[in-house]
Amino acid sequence: MQIDEAREVRTTCPYCGVGCGVLAKVAADGEVTVRGDPDHPANFGRLCSKGSALAETIDLDGRLLHPEIHGRRTSWDEALDRVASTFSQTIAEHGPDAVAFYVSGQLLTEDYYVANKLMKGFIGSANIDTNSRLCMASSVAGHRRAFGSDTVPGNYEDLELADLIVLVGSNLAWCHPVLYQRIAAAREKRPEMKVVLVDPRRTMTSDIADLHLAIAPDGDVALFTGLLAYLGQHNALDRAYITAHTAGFGQALFAASALDLAGIAAATGLSEDELGRFYSLFAATAKTVTVYSQGVNQSSSGTDKVNAIINCHLATGRIGKPGTGPFSVTGQPNAMGGREVGGMANMLAAHMEIENPEHRERVQRFWNAPAVAQKPGLKAVEMFQGVADGRIRALWIMATNPVDSMPDADAVQAAIKACPFVVVSDVLASTDTVRHAHVRLPAAAWGEKDGTVTNSERRISRQRAFLDLPGEARPDWWIVAEVARRMGFDEAFSHASAAEIFAEHAALSGFENDSARDFDIGAYARIDGEDYDALAPFQWPAPSPGTPLWPAGHLPLKGGDQLSPPLSPTSDIAEMSDAQTLPISPLEGEMAGRPEGGAWARRPEGPTRFFANGNFYTPDRKARFIAIRPTIETRTSPDYPLILNTGRVRDHWHTMTRTGKSPRLSQHIAEPFAEIHPADARHFGIGDADIVRVSTVHGEALLRALVTARQRPGSVFVPMHWTDQFAVRARVDALVAPITDAISGQPASKNVAARLERF
Ligand code: SF4
Repeated sequence: MQIDEAREVRTTCPYCGVGCGVLAKVAADGEVTVRGDPDHPANFGRLCSKGSALAETIDLDGRLLHPEIHGRRTSWDEALDRVASTFSQTIAEHGPDAVAFYVSGQLLTEDYYVANKLMKGFIGSANIDTNSRLCMASSVAGHRRAFGSDTVPGNYEDLELADLIVLVGSNLAWCHPVLYQRIAAAREKRPEMKVVLVDPRRTMTSDIADLHLAIAPDGDVALFTGLLAYLGQHNALDRAYITAHTAGFGQALFAASALDLAGIAAATGLSEDELGRFYSLFAATAKTVTVYSQGVNQSSSGTDKVNAIINCHLATGRIGKPGTGPFSVTGQPNAMGGREVGGMANMLAAHMEIENPEHRERVQRFWNAPAVAQKPGLKAVEMFQGVADGRIRALWIMATNPVDSMPDADAVQAAIKACPFVVVSDVLASTDTVRHAHVRLPAAAWGEKDGTVTNSERRISRQRAFLDLPGEARPDWWIVAEVARRMGFDEAFSHASAAEIFAEHAALSGFENDSARDFDIGAYARIDGEDYDALAPFQWPAPSPGTPLWPAGHLPLKGGDQLSPPLSPTSDIAEMSDAQTLPISPLEGEMAGRPEGGAWARRPEGPTRFFANGNFYTPDRKARFIAIRPTIETRTSPDYPLILNTGRVRDHWHTMTRTGKSPRLSQHIAEPFAEIHPADARHFGIGDADIVRVSTVHGEALLRALVTARQRPGSVFVPMHWTDQFAVRARVDALVAPITDAISGQPASKNVAARLERF
């Protein structure tokens, strides 16, 4: 294979919120290879199995390459005209709230920005929501309640500086593997670092845990309110910080003290001894980071869980300082970018609030918009209920597969099938969602499109194109802008490039924004195509003028070996042993500091730290404690005596539309399974590797039994990835109830009453 060096391109992995830098090379014969970018501050050269296999997933097999109307190939002009005229007609006849966009954390920030602008500023509805609603909406709501803004205070470096890391509802080893590797490497250097894992299952992440708390499903509110009460009782509070920088502590402590330790033990399913060990460790360790993910967010009490965690950090002043903080890690590569441009039904652009008339008026003036939305729109679950009951009559789905991934997925499928007009922009021709589209629009895929993404530590990185657009595929921002222009909004959607959109987004962020005065937003608002091409990863907001832009052209790439860890040996479900862990790539020596050379070594200021001296985004600049009472949630019944918990496996992503293309990735776990405790297996007469039927009131799935003591008695874990395209009756989201958190609207995908039988 002859490598065309000139075509090696810096980009980022499209899978998870870690946001790893990737170097992609295209050989003269078109073959693509990837390796981790040694200069990217998220991964310093590491990639996990999914990132390493990216080159195996970019062939054109199954691609949607031309616009189609009712399955017939057509021209872009005809397809775009049809979308624009049908949306305009629907709005004219039924009002702006009769249309909706359902978008995705797979979109780049520029795509998200344009879609949000069209819906909220020009159509005049806020009916734009995203599959990120299923991922981190509870964190957004919790941040806003506590900090006055959706601001994630954590940095990856804090994970290496902490003396205690509490992982809550997070199988980091499989779901954010490079962060797991960074923690494992830091711990090897500093064995005194402690890790506590809070998870109903003993997952691969428990390999680095000193203490595993196999908590009852949704026991987290009780666990962390109990911790707050313990901190109060044991004189472990930072009273000076509480006084200077917070409000509402007294009420929060009073509410948290509703249960004694025995009550907390009953609510969490943990012993008083386990609670005591965790609570005393937390109380005694000043440098503590609490990392949380979907086990916290995907819950009917998700927002309260987030605030119960944040309360403990505020009470100890452990926020905004190196090695401390509550830290929500996001599932998707651009969940954060979507939040920043307001790509959710209850947000406005640039972190402004849709309920705030001043914010609405400011956005209206900036966009010169005719019809800024006046109220929040329908959140994901409500949106598809709106499609089902006819309130939504024209729906545009971008870069996501809700027929397989939404809760109550069969009902969602029926709603989409019955909707009068469905547009899907996608890279694939035949996902379970694309099949129901009246108009199919071929979108550019990873490697073909340009833009930015924001990772879990608010680091903005470029995704760069290194492949030509195949067929007639186009970037999502271009497709949305073309429809907007055909709807009569020519001037506002005349963007010629992703760089122009990025500059407009930055300009809006700084527009009449007092909070932005300390940051160098102007430099980004004036960015031109050349600087955008050279944009180095940076944390937002940029702390000072001169934040690095790589020199025009290219930062010289380092040579060197493939730095990514190899894929682990093939294992099938029966070989999934306790000892199985991800390999650690050979970079441990570099992980705790910045690498030598390269743009980031020149950066003196270190990570952007929010809230170092308080200064929250509330009117009085004080953080808010939220008064939360410990709760016990019971969903089981005699007919449905078990709890279904859904989640990811290491080597697949979402509904496998991309990872399903790689035979190597599919070898890790070859088929969907139901993880069952031996006691439950005995009770239901199920043997290891039997086929079992898992059912709920919403649906059923047929799965291979994996009987293991790693599982908590009374719970069943089923991965979320497999669809009927890959296995028989394996769409687990068809089983998940459309129950949501009342504040965030995030579905509770980890606590569904279920039953089990041998098939
Ligand atoms: Fe990609 Fe996430 Fe793996 Fe990094 S950790 S290579 S971003 S999937």
